[in-house]
Amino acid sequence: MEAMTFVLFGSTGDLAKRKIFPALYNLYVDRKMPEAFSIIGLGRKSFNDATFQTYVEQSLQEFSRNTPNDRKTVDAFLRSIRYHILNVDDTAGYQELLKLVEQRESELNIPQNRMFYMSVAPEFFGVIADNINASGLGNTSGWKRLIIEKPFGHDLESARQLNQHLSKTFAEEEVFRIDHYLGKPMVQNMESFTSANPVIQSLWNNRHIANVQITASEVVGVEERAGYYDHTGAIRDMVQNHMLQVLMMTAMTLPGGHTADDVRSHKKYIAKALRPISKEDAHKHIVRAQYVNGVVSGREVQGYQDEPGIELGSNTDTFVAARVWVDDFSWEGVPFYIRTGKRMKEKSTRIVIEFKNTMQNSEICVDCDGQPNMLTISINPEEKITLQLNRRNVKTGLLEPMTSEFVMGTDNDPEAYELLIGDALNGDGTFFAHWDEVELSWQWVQPILEAFADNSLPLHDYAAGTYGPEASDALLAEQGFRWLGDQ
Ligand code: NAD
Repeated sequence: MEAMTFVLFGSTGDLAKRKIFPALYNLYVDRKMPEAFSIIGLGRKSFNDATFQTYVEQSLQEFSRNTPNDRKTVDAFLRSIRYHILNVDDTAGYQELLKLVEQRESELNIPQNRMFYMSVAPEFFGVIADNINASGLGNTSGWKRLIIEKPFGHDLESARQLNQHLSKTFAEEEVFRIDHYLGKPMVQNMESFTSANPVIQSLWNNRHIANVQITASEVVGVEERAGYYDHTGAIRDMVQNHMLQVLMMTAMTLPGGHTADDVRSHKKYIAKALRPISKEDAHKHIVRAQYVNGVVSGREVQGYQDEPGIELGSNTDTFVAARVWVDDFSWEGVPFYIRTGKRMKEKSTRIVIEFKNTMQNSEICVDCDGQPNMLTISINPEEKITLQLNRRNVKTGLLEPMTSEFVMGTDNDPEAYELLIGDALNGDGTFFAHWDEVELSWQWVQPILEAFADNSLPLHDYAAGTYGPEASDALLAEQGFRWLGDQ
């Protein structure tokens, strides 16, 4: 890996503290950082280098996977860190920043490889990119790259504008858009799971699969993010990005021996194949809902409307379920159901594949009591794959389901941010959202946003601590299915 300078905008923020510094430290401990590197934290707070290094060390103590207890290693890591006060719209301040970056490059005798990370509110993305350009920070004799956080736009138009703005300074191959679901080991594993296992590969189509169900349920409510969430809702916060990315990773059917580019171009192919849902038809395929008071994990909790910071009479969706069709010959007739919500019964991110129950349709069926075979890919909180088959109970003579579990994760596995930042440092964009995928996702979501804005589909209620409204069950029942794997 090439030596580089890591310039972090928003280094005093929540994400930097909880995820980015721990990720950099863990990469360092695991010898996945370059031999020489410089980290420059930017913010408005009045830290100096020493006080900022202490602040970073505290974040490692609290959040790092590898406990920072080896003094020599911790000190060596902290020595690479400098702090610079910069207000993002202070044009002159970027000249000072350039001087600092160049000074560190010459002290460490490293090439001008510069990684810019925007861990700040999205309204600052444009102004920072402009200033990187205007100040000369972006004129490097080495490479320059940009890591950017979600949200990438608020709708199709704003996402396009943002992309146009950024592309004045950064070429597409220099931009690494984080969708942290793509950093989850089980999601990354999907490409190998379906392409490196001939047994699975041969089943991954509409001849064998009846439907696919992708769930991302949370137990928490809006927490401290009420102001942000009330203008975002589940459709923007979860569906446009994470849910559709997981769907793309699931629907990919790649041959063995594929390249990183194959993964991205196949994801784009799937994104293009998503059957559009018009604003007028949204009510047929989409269920939106909001939680009311209920009991979560044995505790009475208030409804969304009563949460502090939520506008009176808010129509924001805290739950969305959707039926998605992928117009590709291998997925013809297979509904992909997605479902995400806050204040649901359990925290779970999973993909459930229900296989066709051919026995039920067979004229010579003698074992019609068998359950459909089922494959559950659990992404969070556990990482495991569970296969459900049928077996005969010798005592009763009846068929009954049996399951086999393949546990993937261990406690000390690298976290999503480690994997993603490590990939970006290596220039590997496989598990980042390409602009084409982002644009296609917004295109798919846009008519649904408009239907929500016009209230042209009902806003259902669901009690906190449940799996969502009845309408979500009815959506699957239309094809004779039901949500699988709920506790
Ligand atoms: P935060 O509010 O905790 O931190 C924002 C940072 O921006 C702070 O360091 C602050 O000092 C800095 N900042 C604000 N205004 C500034 C200005 N005018 N000039 C210079 N610096 C300024 O936010 P966060 O939670 O760390 O999130 C950062 C980004 O990551 C946001 O885009 C957010 O949407 C995204 N994100 C965060 C999380 C998370 O878990 N925190 C998850 C996903 C995405």
